[in-house]
Amino acid sequence: MPFINGKIMLDHAFQNGYGVGAFSAHNAETVIAIMEAAKEEQAPIMIQIGQKVIQTLGMEALKGLIDTYEKEYSVPIAIHLDHSREFEQTMSAVQMGFQSVMFDGSGLSFEENIEITKKVVDVARALGIGSEGEIGKIGGTEDDITVDEKDALITTTEEAVAFVEATDVDYLAVSIGTAHGMYKETPNLRFERLEEIVAAVKRPVVLHGGSDIPDEQVRRAIGLGIAKINVDTELRQAFTRGIQEALEENPDDIVVASTLGRGRLRMKEKVQEKIRVFGSQGRAEELLTHTKVITN
Ligand SMILES: [Zn+2]
Repeated sequence: MPFINGKIMLDHAFQNGYGVGAFSAHNAETVIAIMEAAKEEQAPIMIQIGQKVIQTLGMEALKGLIDTYEKEYSVPIAIHLDHSREFEQTMSAVQMGFQSVMFDGSGLSFEENIEITKKVVDVARALGIGSEGEIGKIGGTEDDITVDEKDALITTTEEAVAFVEATDVDYLAVSIGTAHGMYKETPNLRFERLEEIVAAVKRPVVLHGGSDIPDEQVRRAIGLGIAKINVDTELRQAFTRGIQEALEENPDDIVVASTLGRGRLRMKEKVQEKIRVFGSQGRAEELLTHTKVITN
């Protein structure tokens, strides 16, 4: 039961003016850090499986870890596939029982992006799985793919409308001035464009590159219709600093569980901080009730 269709989860957030954190997991400790934070905050969350971890641990192994730990933490979770660039991979995730999948065709032509996203939407919807598409290019580096700042294109309202009409995707990632990774200068989100896009597409919009954006800008974006905020870089930073901290205190500590444990603690704290900024704390129960009502 606590696994929830990504569309139901994000529609609820969208209608109730809060944001769901989509936190990237990389190993068992990071999965537990995210789940502990969600449980303490009683917040619905998405756990993202991204391209890097698919290349290392593998999609099925990490999915299996999340499935296992989910039994201990009864919070609403959607397992989400982040930035899939291959139709076949997206379908593997569907077959494995993810609750949400993203096909990222932003590197393709607009027509090809529509064509493949539409196929993903059709299959995912038939199986009760949420779908995310992307238009406009989001700057920065993610999964070894770098989009130069100057090539990062701000999504136009016209293309957002055309894309949504052609694909009927459940939620849409747009480029409104964020970038993957940490920022050299404070970003300035394009709020007017966001407002215009949300009014036109009437569905949840996704903010990628959610690390290192001033809290006040994130809150404002959520108020305008951002319902999913992807956070990865800041969490990896917190996790790594925790390990460094433990090793500085005791350089000879070779108890891996204790050094990784400090990373997990620091990451958990960061996830909790983000959940509060997004306003999703304490929303677990109402979402579960809402889900029961609409699925019965
Ligand atoms: Zn992204």
